[in-house]
Amino acid sequence: MSTPNVEKHEFQAEIKQLLDIVIHSLYTEKEIFVRELISNASDASEKLRHLKITEKEIFDKDLELEIKISTDDTANTITIQDFGIGMTKDELVKSLGTIAHSGSKQFLEALKEGGSKNDNLIGQFGVGFYSAFMVANEVKVYSRSWKEGESGHVWTSTGAGSYEVEEVEGQRRGTKIVLSLKDDDKSFAKDETIKEIIKRYSSFVQFPIKLNDEKVNTIDALWLRGKSGIKDEEYTEFYKFQANAWDEPRYRLHFSADAPLAIKALLFVPKENPERAGFGRIDPAVALYCRKVLIDSKPTELLPEWMRFTKGVVDSEDLPLNISRETMQDRSLIQKLGRVITKRFLKFLSEEAKKRPDEYQEFFDKFGFFLKEGVAIDMTYKDELAKLLYFESSAQEKGKKTSLADYISRMKEEQKEIYYITGQNRESIESGPYLEGFKARGIEVLFLYEPVDEYVMNNLREYEEKTLVSADQGDLKLDDVPQSSEESLSEDEGNALCSWLKETIGERVKEVKISERLVDSPAMALTPDAMSSQMRRMMQQMGQPGMPTEVLFEINPRHALMKNLNRQRETNSDLAKLIALQAFDNSMVAAGLLEDPKDMVSRMYDILSQASETK
Ligand code: ADP
Ligand code: MG
Repeated sequence: MSTPNVEKHEFQAEIKQLLDIVIHSLYTEKEIFVRELISNASDASEKLRHLKITEKEIFDKDLELEIKISTDDTANTITIQDFGIGMTKDELVKSLGTIAHSGSKQFLEALKEGGSKNDNLIGQFGVGFYSAFMVANEVKVYSRSWKEGESGHVWTSTGAGSYEVEEVEGQRRGTKIVLSLKDDDKSFAKDETIKEIIKRYSSFVQFPIKLNDEKVNTIDALWLRGKSGIKDEEYTEFYKFQANAWDEPRYRLHFSADAPLAIKALLFVPKENPERAGFGRIDPAVALYCRKVLIDSKPTELLPEWMRFTKGVVDSEDLPLNISRETMQDRSLIQKLGRVITKRFLKFLSEEAKKRPDEYQEFFDKFGFFLKEGVAIDMTYKDELAKLLYFESSAQEKGKKTSLADYISRMKEEQKEIYYITGQNRESIESGPYLEGFKARGIEVLFLYEPVDEYVMNNLREYEEKTLVSADQGDLKLDDVPQSSEESLSEDEGNALCSWLKETIGERVKEVKISERLVDSPAMALTPDAMSSQMRRMMQQMGQPGMPTEVLFEINPRHALMKNLNRQRETNSDLAKLIALQAFDNSMVAAGLLEDPKDMVSRMYDILSQASETK
């Protein structure tokens, strides 16, 4: 029976799907719901602690911030109460009825990816508040916002499709969640069980946790303690608690500084990169504290955007507690703080790269993209970041990467530039025409496979005073022409062939000339601008033409095809023309420059039929 002031709501479709999985999952570590609900209680309390600094009017202002948990093994319930910011009616509906938070969003996205092992996914992402339904057949959420003039409400659901919201009297500020446990999960109504779980998962909560009126945690700001007294497991537990993470950290950096600002920081790099797994952009997650008081759990202006993969805590005594993003002075203070931390983090990474190169390579494979993004768009750190970049190269076996510094250390004395080629993969670069001139001269070339690499090189421009040069650039001059033992067209013959080719190909080519670079291939197409084939392909995919109007065609005077062509243009000029055009189109394909292959295909058939006629 519904009473008039009870409102019934349907869950959003995604939440229904999520609840269905949560309720029917066989996930064994159901106890994580304790951690999730305490973490929400702690978040709400942290927010209130901060509001107290910035707001005058707060309902129930003097209520102490603590987390109260009570168990009742006769009624089979567990109750978790906080005195944090609470929720208004609208907030209850929005926060608990729609997919508002990142954890469940990631969970659902992973599910769409085709994860049939749903139980496992719960463990990987956590399902936040909804984990309560793993153990409860009914959940009641009583809540009263910190805002004056709002009334209290209770939200009730069995997790099956809908929930109800009703106004309640006499509610204190904050949230009280009552779980009626399923028969199989009655053990969670036992004091000892819960005490043990709290000890395991929630040792870093910054508020007293009272279980049946007994305080069960010691409040400890790990980041303020000395490094030497902290065990690895404590760091890991803290990371999991603070970042709401399920993996182990890959790196951690715990440091303090006194100048130019008093800082204590504890940063982590996770094991996995969720952006790479396709879970969308990560929010910044290095929380900003001032003397243990949380100021902002996701400060966007503290660290540069490319550092968004890091987790942890930064605490500075020099920040005013009522810091405001609106005032210039405070903003610049936060940015100054961020610069100190970023520099220290970069130094840490470069030390790691030297000390433990294998681990660093693993890190770079997973997180290198962020460093590259930094070089490509952040002028402030690009030089330091460039030192941390690694690429495959012609001098290294497949899979092995080199830094720019190591590349330079292998350079010959007379080499002034750092060369690179972009391509889909190693095979396509090695089989293309651009590498051979460098190979013949024993010059190392970096292999770049990712679209972002192009931006990296264009923004970096040079490294240790060596210009970075794309190897498929038209105006490239390589000294020390390799002497081929094979017979070459004479200079006159070569020049004559070039002008005939120019005439035959026509408008599509700006200039035809004898190549100084080619060794094995008959010809190659080049563009005078620095934009490489990969970049052009990308622009094409984005629907921008991006095609250069000027193409250079270089021919190899030692190659049999060119020598034959030079003869045939006199003896069989029709076939010679077809071959010339085809050779040009082939080189355009290799350069990623051919827009429309229609003509090329029909011409190819022409050539094939002529070839099949000769006996
Ligand atoms: P998350 O904590 O990752 O945001 P949850 O599923 O755990 O996701 O919670 C969803 C939302 O419900 C929270 O973002 C918050 O807005 C609200 N919420 C949950 N528990 C509480 C609480 N104890 N006090 C106030 N708001 C809460
Ligand atoms: Mg949560």
